[in-house]
Amino acid sequence: MVKKKFYLTTAIDYVNASPHIGHAFEKVIADVISRWNQLKGKDVFFLTGVDENAQKNVDAAKKAGVPVKEFVDKNAKLFLKLCEKLNINYDSFIRTTAKEHAKVVQDIIKKIFDNKDIYKGVYEGLYCVGCEEYKTEKDLVDGKCPEHNTKPEYRKEEAYFFKLSKYKDKLLEIIPKYVVPEKRANEVLNRIKEGLQDLCITRKGAEWGIDFPIDKNFKVYVWVDALINYISGLQDKEKYWPADVHVIGKGINWFHSVIWPALLLSAGYELPRKLLVHGYLTLKGGKISKSLGNTVDPLELLEKYPSDSVRYALLKCSIFEDSDFSEEILIERHNNELANKLGNLVSRVSSLIEKYGLDKTENKLIKKLKLKTIEKLIQDYKFDKALNLIFEFIDVCNEYIQDKKPWTEECEDKKKILYELADSIKSISILLWSFMPETSEKIANQFNFKINYKEIKSPLKISKIKKGENLFTKIKKG
Ligand SMILES: [Zn+2]
Repeated sequence: MVKKKFYLTTAIDYVNASPHIGHAFEKVIADVISRWNQLKGKDVFFLTGVDENAQKNVDAAKKAGVPVKEFVDKNAKLFLKLCEKLNINYDSFIRTTAKEHAKVVQDIIKKIFDNKDIYKGVYEGLYCVGCEEYKTEKDLVDGKCPEHNTKPEYRKEEAYFFKLSKYKDKLLEIIPKYVVPEKRANEVLNRIKEGLQDLCITRKGAEWGIDFPIDKNFKVYVWVDALINYISGLQDKEKYWPADVHVIGKGINWFHSVIWPALLLSAGYELPRKLLVHGYLTLKGGKISKSLGNTVDPLELLEKYPSDSVRYALLKCSIFEDSDFSEEILIERHNNELANKLGNLVSRVSSLIEKYGLDKTENKLIKKLKLKTIEKLIQDYKFDKALNLIFEFIDVCNEYIQDKKPWTEECEDKKKILYELADSIKSISILLWSFMPETSEKIANQFNFKINYKEIKSPLKISKIKKGENLFTKIKKG
């Protein structure tokens, strides 16, 4: 049987600085979607990468006194390291300075030009380099960009424009089905209804970036270049395009909800199916930012704590709302949930089995696992709620041991009770694979089962089960 394809992407990150915790959050969200679809038997292609053509990379390199290429190379490596340490199962990592990428960008712009959607004019207005976005007075607060708290530059130059306004009605029609959650769809719909301007898509005389194929005196506007990575990053475009999900942060919703589909419509491509827009991580409800000096360095966390603990702590944050995250929260979740609940269950059950053995029986305990609801929650990207239900079932299993006391002489069915527990641990662990792959694979080795979707419901085969090492060592608060 031919597997159904599933293509997902993350945003590509600016390499003007090292990765921050928000990057880790987005990659982990996408990795859960990727692994879950893989578990369900789909042929998954997962693309992530970095945006190397932005003006702000150039500015940051100049500030650091390093040639731009050297600067982006160095920071791109940190993003690769982040993926590796977080156990992100991506298939391809795109860097937009790659030659093949430039060619695809130019081909698509030519298609848009042939479709008569590009014209020459004069751009006059404001530009925030932090956002890499043209701004209107309306977008500013006290004359400054609210995202960056900086004054945008004034630009007046010859430029090429894309006829974005032409796609207004079509966009109003597609966005409600395309953008998740609904409130993010409504934000862009309201903005479109206020008026949709054509988009300036070039920069005159810029030193860094992709040549504009219609006129060599210009470079391609970095967002047009960046968005096209979702197509250029595919080796097999025929097979995988359109994207099934683009995962992005709320700050770049407009580019993905409005500009991207319009460019694709003009160039004659099929549209992506879903845009998943996540919120930001916050600290005590406030912004995490460099200028506030309260950043959490994900690479530092990954030096100190197991990858799965970092993943789990992040995934317990709500995707759709802004959500608090800190090292303290990570330690609490690691100790109270991973060590005390999951680690404890696996360790008690495996050591009792080592002592008493197993006897196959019908697992009645598993009826308390709300499998259908958990699956629906994962399907709807409500990962924190899915984890809550999985851990509720872990509580049920721990209470069952406490209640039955299979280590006592009075307990006559101890081998059957232990079988029910071992079989339940199998289901828990397969469900957790998308969230915590390392832990899940350790448990699978210990209890001798394979991680695939069918195994969730098929009874555990009896084999030798050994008490392994502790899955999670408690972290002392420093
Ligand atoms: Zn800005």
